[in-house]
Amino acid sequence: MTAYFDYAATTPVRPEAVEAAVQAMTQGWGNPSARHELGSRAAADLSAWRGQIARGLGCAPEELYFTSCGTEGDNWAIYGAVEAGKRVGKHIITTAYEHDAVLQPCKELERRGYEVTYLKPNRDGEISLDDLEAALRPDTVLVSMMLVNNELGTVLPVRQAVDIVRRSGSRALFHCDAVQGFLKIPFTPAELGVDLLSISGHKIQAPKGIGALYIRKGLKFPPLIRGGGQENGMRSGTEPTAQIAAFAAAVEAGAREMEAATAHMARMKERTLDRLTQAVPGLKQVGTGTAPHILAVTMPGYKSEVVVRFLSDRGVCVSSGSACHKGKASHVYAALNLPKKELDGVLRISFSPRTREEEVDALAQALAQAGAQLFTSLS
Ligand code: PLP
Repeated sequence: MTAYFDYAATTPVRPEAVEAAVQAMTQGWGNPSARHELGSRAAADLSAWRGQIARGLGCAPEELYFTSCGTEGDNWAIYGAVEAGKRVGKHIITTAYEHDAVLQPCKELERRGYEVTYLKPNRDGEISLDDLEAALRPDTVLVSMMLVNNELGTVLPVRQAVDIVRRSGSRALFHCDAVQGFLKIPFTPAELGVDLLSISGHKIQAPKGIGALYIRKGLKFPPLIRGGGQENGMRSGTEPTAQIAAFAAAVEAGAREMEAATAHMARMKERTLDRLTQAVPGLKQVGTGTAPHILAVTMPGYKSEVVVRFLSDRGVCVSSGSACHKGKASHVYAALNLPKKELDGVLRISFSPRTREEEVDALAQALAQAGAQLFTSLS
């Protein structure tokens, strides 16, 4: 492979995390619930890893509950919030361009009689706080707003949104899907003022199969899985210690390097937009997303699937949207109401601290070839 630009889909596991996982599997492999020496050691390790991740996120260790992924955290937050607030009402507010991990539970709740308001982004990809204020009702039980949109790189005004909800006297819980924001933009759950916040390991160079849900201290919230009482009775099941060890190592290293890493990614993003607009006439950014690691562009008139395959054949990996869509049109770009020619030609390019200038140049070169060799549609 010459160049990888799909880090928003997933990232390679960093060496510190691999080492921590191997250590947990080969030496500290006890069951943290067991009462003997090996078990106590595993329990002590688990507590240390939880502390490391909580420090990286900026919360108390007892506010952090391990999940298997971001999707699980989002589902738990949404179903749990409507259960916790069942006396408040049956109205939910979210945005039209959340990840499916939020949208699909909302759709399911609609089938169960809930009403959901989907706040629409404008053409720049921004969500209006006035729309949020207007949508709030006395029976609003949950507001779910992501921190960084995974296909546009838009940073959403979560802090201000929380302020509006609280000032209105609403009893709604506030959930934030921070899967794409964690270690990419600075925040803590307390600074945002949210009740619930989900993160995922594989977006930050930890393995797949691990994530966490932050549940604000003092919030009465229902458990996800009942059983042996792990995770303070909130999510039973023997803890995946190897994944948690790796997650902790990735968070610690990622938090330490965050400033330099995000500055590097922002430089790569700027260079990419610059090179690509020179290489392909008509290419332009979609939205005005300012997150350092995600850039959406469109080549109006071209079909993004065809371009993605053309680039892939030349060793360059980009995405035509979120990997979860698997070829289906992206609801995120559709929500922007772009002209069809622009909508069909959208590419998502995403960066990591490992992204090199030569990769950016390889992408620009391959995309210039695509521009010259592929036919544009007449529609
Ligand atoms: N939320 C956002 C914004 C995402 O980008 C993703 C993954 O692409 C998820 C949730 C789902 O996370 P996971 O893949 O860990 O289930």
